[in-house]
Amino acid sequence: MGDERQHVRVAVIGTGFGGLGMGVRLRREGITDFVILERAGSVGGTWRDNSYPGCACDVPSHLYSFSFAPNAEWPRTFSGQPHIRAYLERVTDTFGLRPHIRFDSEVLAARWDGERARWEIRTAREELTADVLVSATGPLSDPRIPEIPGLDGFPGKVFHSARWDHDYDLAGKRVAMVGTGASAIQIVPAVQPKVARLTVIQRTPPWVLPRMDRGINAVERWLHDTVPATAKARRGLLWLIREFQVGAFVKRPQLMKATEQLAKAHLRKAVKDPVLRAKLIPDYTIGCKRILLSNDYYPALAAPNAEVVAGALREVRGSTVVTADGTEREVDAIVFGTGFHVTDMPIGERITGADGRTLAEHWKDGMAALRGSTVDGFPNLLMVIGPNTGLANSSMILMIESTLAYIADYLRTLDRTGAAALVAKPAAVRAWNAGLQRRLARTVWNTGGCVSWYLDVNGRNTTVWPGTTAEFRRATARVDLAEYDLVPRPAGPAAATAAAEVTA
Ligand SMILES: Cc1cc2nc3c(=O)[nH]c(=O)nc-3n(C[C@H](O)[C@H](O)[C@H](O)COP(=O)(O)OP(=O)(O)OC[C@H]3O[C@@H](n4cnc5c(N)ncnc54)[C@H](O)[C@@H]3O)c2cc1C
Repeated sequence: MGDERQHVRVAVIGTGFGGLGMGVRLRREGITDFVILERAGSVGGTWRDNSYPGCACDVPSHLYSFSFAPNAEWPRTFSGQPHIRAYLERVTDTFGLRPHIRFDSEVLAARWDGERARWEIRTAREELTADVLVSATGPLSDPRIPEIPGLDGFPGKVFHSARWDHDYDLAGKRVAMVGTGASAIQIVPAVQPKVARLTVIQRTPPWVLPRMDRGINAVERWLHDTVPATAKARRGLLWLIREFQVGAFVKRPQLMKATEQLAKAHLRKAVKDPVLRAKLIPDYTIGCKRILLSNDYYPALAAPNAEVVAGALREVRGSTVVTADGTEREVDAIVFGTGFHVTDMPIGERITGADGRTLAEHWKDGMAALRGSTVDGFPNLLMVIGPNTGLANSSMILMIESTLAYIADYLRTLDRTGAAALVAKPAAVRAWNAGLQRRLARTVWNTGGCVSWYLDVNGRNTTVWPGTTAEFRRATARVDLAEYDLVPRPAGPAAATAAAEVTA
């Protein structure tokens, strides 16, 4: 019996900036034989799932957008989630991606079929096969709620910042906000004025700097629209400033001390109560965890209906939250701003490579890839925002676009060599990662004295790129064939069947 499954050249997973950008790039390369598989019912990734009050980017919009799709209409320097989501919807239509997207198609399993040299993919709706699999499932797309004893028995409302329940009105409620990361500091000032009492449960205080946010006025918008070079120049400047900052994070963490003074002055100005202020001063070097930007977080914490309880959430007893130091508060709702499965990305459990092991098993000692994209033992698997491609201070779209260029060259290399697949050499992956770990060793992320989501359970930094975005662009400009083994096209009956399916 014939194989009824559809076969495509490229299957992409995810419709965030990464998956959509991949779609645009494929079309620009003249490739139309691809699908984009998305578990949700609309595009947007991060910017569809995070709709909490106050949600906005913390890299300026003119840099936090695609270089090939400038948007003269950004309303603010740091635009809010509805505008970023609408931008991604527009990109989807402008670049003709909709016909390629399959919604409600969560990828449940993907297995490399060595005999036929292709990926077998099972989604929530269908089975298909593909020559190349591109995983753009996002580093921050699967919310993480810590295991807290008693949480199951909590009679009130519980949700994660990335799955905001808009049907539940927080007005007049006693709310516990667990976590003080990038999402929490946007949520706190947005909800504090309307809740009866806000208890912020803080394991570690963040360093917070002023947020240079303002509306982009009509003249600027008109100028960017009529003279696109001005928007380009604005983007260029925003990029350059961030490229210069990298040195302090990577080579000279001691230079961060001056920034700490700025952050302390910011805190002093907003919080007069010395007891609260003491709780809010971090004991690690600024930059070790993500530096947060806010003008209204500290004032919200200083409000009469807010309090900060220092220490982790230890347990929930009925409707009472109990923190590490034994503080108890009765609450109506618990909001978790506790981050995502970053170093243990769930898709790893679902992708099985040439030797029958899953990516998660392959990475049991920590994530590692070649140039952030490919993994030994996983032919024709490419990742957008793979290991060590994260940034602490600049736009992830720059890293995404570099990877898209690498993947485009990868596909051209397959055509040029006539190989069915490329597979990264283990020695090349090892060498690349040894170089990264050497450079990471003296960075503020590794030496700043904090525990952050940049580090995995073994304390290894498998998330951050220790260089400028220009360096990453150079490193991913071309596929170096010396780093890959070629997998020949299958011969014999498997090839014949595969060829018949492709032409059918
Ligand atoms: C609140 C918030 C604010 C942020 N702000 C910034 C910022 O200002 N600047 C910055 O540079 N970065 C920021 N980031 C990081 C942000 O995640 C990246 O910039 C970028 O949006 C990631 O895009 P992505 O396409 O890789 O992943 P995502 O946007 O997460 O998209 C992944 C997609 O894959 C889908 N998916 C996952 N698993 C499966 C599966 N098994 N099957 C099918 N589909 C699947 C998901 O549904 C999702 O649509 C922020 C992140 C968050 C959470």
